[in-house]
Amino acid sequence: MSRLPSPARVAIGLGTNVGDRRAHLDDALARLAAHVDGLRRARTYASDAMLPPGAPPGWAMPYLNTVCVGTTRLTPAALLAETQAIEQALGRGPHPRWAPRVIDLDVLLYGDRVIETPTLTVPHPGLAERAFVVLPLAELAPDWHEPVSGRPIAALAEVLRAAHPDGMPYRTRPVGEVP
Ligand code: ATP
Ligand code: CA
Ligand code: CA
Repeated sequence: MSRLPSPARVAIGLGTNVGDRRAHLDDALARLAAHVDGLRRARTYASDAMLPPGAPPGWAMPYLNTVCVGTTRLTPAALLAETQAIEQALGRGPHPRWAPRVIDLDVLLYGDRVIETPTLTVPHPGLAERAFVVLPLAELAPDWHEPVSGRPIAALAEVLRAAHPDGMPYRTRPVGEVP
């Protein structure tokens, strides 16, 4: 596995809407800690499922999400491979995009890198619109500048709050203790 000479700061998003969701988050975080040093996690957030038009009604299963940050010596591609290995270890099999899943791990940010390859887009697409990503990330790294917009994560959270005064998209709200 390729490794870097100096560590890079990374943010990884976690989501689950099947089975023992809290256990899946804890299990995935414990496994991520083998690759991410100084791992810190945000509170847990509950959200409605984000669904494509025409999705089967059975897909509307509520999510728990959180975000973790830390540093890694893995390259972006190697980090993606490790997150996918953890998804599989927790029992995620092949399924259509946005179908219910035991665990979903997304590489949200990798330092200030902007990456566009056939298998990896960083920052993660849609990050800024997803309250279940921006709110937990803002707990951990409010001053981290999202490199495409150039705006700090705290500002992205403010944009969401201002745009949705009557409730966050997907009804995202914290349900976990501050770890
Ligand atoms: P979304 O990406 O909109 O949150 P999803 O998480 O359900 O949807 P997946 O089915 O988990 O999508 O992933 C589809 C593909 O996305 C993966 O095979 C992976 O190669 C690619 N991908 C691109 N950028 C990233 C990233 N930053 N983090 C994780 N996967 C990514
Ligand atoms: Ca995802
Ligand atoms: Ca994913």
